[in-house]
Amino acid sequence: MTTWFISDLHLDATRPAITRQLLALLEDIQGKAEALYILGDFFEYWVGDDALEAPEFAAFLPVVEGLHQLSDSGVKLYFQHGNRDFLVGERFAAATGCALLPEQYLFDLYGVPTLLLHGDTLCTDDIAYQQIRKVLRDLIWQQQFLALPIVERIRQAEAMRAQSRAAMQGKRDDDIMDVSKQTVAEVMQAVGVSRLIHGHTHRPAVHDFMLAGQPVQRIVLGDWHENRGSYLRVDAENMLLEF
Ligand code: MN
Repeated sequence: MTTWFISDLHLDATRPAITRQLLALLEDIQGKAEALYILGDFFEYWVGDDALEAPEFAAFLPVVEGLHQLSDSGVKLYFQHGNRDFLVGERFAAATGCALLPEQYLFDLYGVPTLLLHGDTLCTDDIAYQQIRKVLRDLIWQQQFLALPIVERIRQAEAMRAQSRAAMQGKRDDDIMDVSKQTVAEVMQAVGVSRLIHGHTHRPAVHDFMLAGQPVQRIVLGDWHENRGSYLRVDAENMLLEF
């Protein structure tokens, strides 16, 4: 049996090819996988679980159905929030059969203590982003946002998306968009893990390095494109990062 990890699909009604690739993967791993972990930014944005009934999000109903079928087939599904879909909640979880994971999730992956997180909290050199994150993760702000009519939430999410794109253009030339190596070391040592798996940076790679005299590993999942998906597949003997 195998365990699968995906992140950063940025599912969006305007890019149906990515949704199709996801549905193909969900079908493909049925009967082969014991678990599927979604490590955030599954959706380009999520404005609240009442979007499940909104016509604007009808394109995602096959995804909800596909996850639910996979869950029914006996595959354990886990969902960790990204910086785009932090408003995914218990109703989405119930509709899909996913268990929501905390911001940092530590577990035993075939004998290796492994830490899962989306990855944005590791990008501590991007101070402007970390400030925005603080606002968006504030529960009062979230309650007020969720109380808005859905069309207004969509409008604000689109505006934030445009802003974040513009901000990214300005940052493209340097490395502040990547993780801080120091923060990675601090986080891994604080929890005492030899393996960290995350997404967010769209820089898929397996990084082997030494930490406090011990060999450790940081695996970065890839983002999805119209012509290819990306996943990490792990079993007791092997590991494959496809991107
Ligand atoms: Mn992200």
